[in-house]
Amino acid sequence: MKTIIEPFRIKSVEPITISNRAAREYYLKAAHHNLFLIHSRDVIIDLLTDSGTGAMSSEQWAGIMRGDESYAGSISFQRFERVVQNIWGFEYIIPTHQGRAAERILFSVICKPGDIVPNNTHFDTTRANVEFQGAEALDIPIPESKVPDMYHPFKGNIDTDQLKKVIKKNGIKKIPLIMLTITNNARGGQPVSMENIRETSEIAKEFGIPLYLDACRFAENAWFIKQRENSYHDKSIKSIVSEMFSYADGCTMSAKKDGIANIGGVLCSNDKELAKKEKDLLILTEGFPTYGGLAGRDLEAIAIGLGEAMDEDYLQYRISSTQYLGEHLLKAGVPILQPPGGHAIYIDAKTMLPDIKPEEFPGQSLICALYKEAGIRATEVGSVMFGKKDKQTGKEIQADMELVRLAIPRRTYTQSHIDYVIEAILQVNERKENLRGLKMTYQAEYLRHFSAQFKPL
Ligand SMILES: *Cc1c(COP(=O)(O)O)cnc(C)c1O
Repeated sequence: MKTIIEPFRIKSVEPITISNRAAREYYLKAAHHNLFLIHSRDVIIDLLTDSGTGAMSSEQWAGIMRGDESYAGSISFQRFERVVQNIWGFEYIIPTHQGRAAERILFSVICKPGDIVPNNTHFDTTRANVEFQGAEALDIPIPESKVPDMYHPFKGNIDTDQLKKVIKKNGIKKIPLIMLTITNNARGGQPVSMENIRETSEIAKEFGIPLYLDACRFAENAWFIKQRENSYHDKSIKSIVSEMFSYADGCTMSAKKDGIANIGGVLCSNDKELAKKEKDLLILTEGFPTYGGLAGRDLEAIAIGLGEAMDEDYLQYRISSTQYLGEHLLKAGVPILQPPGGHAIYIDAKTMLPDIKPEEFPGQSLICALYKEAGIRATEVGSVMFGKKDKQTGKEIQADMELVRLAIPRRTYTQSHIDYVIEAILQVNERKENLRGLKMTYQAEYLRHFSAQFKPL
C-alpha cells in the first residue's frame, strides 16, 4: 500500500473549540500580538512546540497507574534504569525533571570559566547553561546548514575540520567535552549521519575529550540514518540507536521529545566519579537519585515511551507527516528550510515576505496572520527570538534568519489536521502582499519573545 496511515486508533479525545475570525482578531489584540500570551483553548491547531505535547499510548497510561511512588529505591526507577541502559548502553542513569536540568548538572560539574564547548549547534537552553558556567558555547555546523534552500541529507552534521582546528588552537585543557545535538533542533531538526558521529568520536578519542549526545530526538535521527545512509537501510532502528550511542561517553535528553512523555529528562554517563558528583548535585536541587524531580509514574511513562519512539511504523508515520506538510508547501511555492526536518517545518519568512523589513519582524507578522486565518499557533524563530537591542546605541541587532516554525506534536494530529494547516498557509500566501510588519512596544531583558508586546504598523 502506498498510503501511509497513522499507526494507532484513538481511544480518548480532547475536543477542539472552533473559533471564528472575529473572535481570533479580538484574542490576538488582547495578547498584544504575541501568541505565547494566547490561551490554548483559543487555538485550533497548536504547533507551538513538539515538547511535552505528544499523546501518550494506552500502555503509557497503564504505566502511570503502576508507578511506584516510594521515595527511595522505587521499582519504577529500576525499570526506567534498565530500559535506558539497555537501549543506549550507558552505566550511570540519572533522572531529571527536564532536559535543561540534566544540562545544568552536567555543565556544573564538568565546565569551568573560560572553557569552550563545541557542538554542531547548541539548543537555546544548552547554550544558556554552558554560558551560565562562564564557558563559551561554540556552534560549528557544516556550512551547508546555513543555506535554507540547499539540500543535504545530513544538514545537522558538525564541521569536523573546524572541530580539529578549535581543539588544536585552544588545547584540550579548555575543552571539557564535545557535544552533538541529534537531531539539530536549532537548525531545522536536521539529522547527523552515523559517519559524522563516528568521525567526531574518533577526534574526541584522539584528544581524550568525552563526547556527549544531546539525545532529545535520537529515534528520529536513527530513522534518517536508516533512510539516507548507505549500509544502514537493512539495519533495525534499535541496532542503529545502539551504534550511535556506542560512540558517546554520555548524554543529556529531554523526555518531552522522543520519550513521548509530558515531562522528564535524563543524564547518562559511564564515568563513576563524575556520576557520583552529579548525583550529589541532583540531591541538592532535583531530588533523590531514584526519582530526580519526577514522580514514579513519570519514569514508567518515559521508559515505555522510549521504546515506542523506536517503533518503525511510528517513525515512518512521524517523519512522513512532517514531510507531507513540507512538500505541499514547497509545491505551492512557499519557501521552506530544506529538506524537511524530523519534528518541524520552518517557513523562510524573509523570502516569503520580502517587503517586510527584518526590523518589522516578518516572522511575527506571518504567525499572527496564520492565527487570524485559521487559529493555528506557530512560533517565530527570527529577530523576535534571537534579535536584541544594542546596549550602547539602542539599535536593534537582527537574527541571521527569519523563520516560522511549525512543530508537530507526536501522535496528536491526523492528516486532515495537517491538510487544514496547508490550506491556511496557502491562503495566507496568496494574499501575502496585504501583510504588514509590527513594532515591538515592550520587551523584557532576557528571553524577550515570551513576553514581548507588539503593535501592527
Ligand atoms: C527541548 C530541548 C532541550 C531542553 O529540554 P527541556 O526538557 O525543554 O528542558 C535541549 N536540547 C534540545 C535539542 C531540545 O530540543
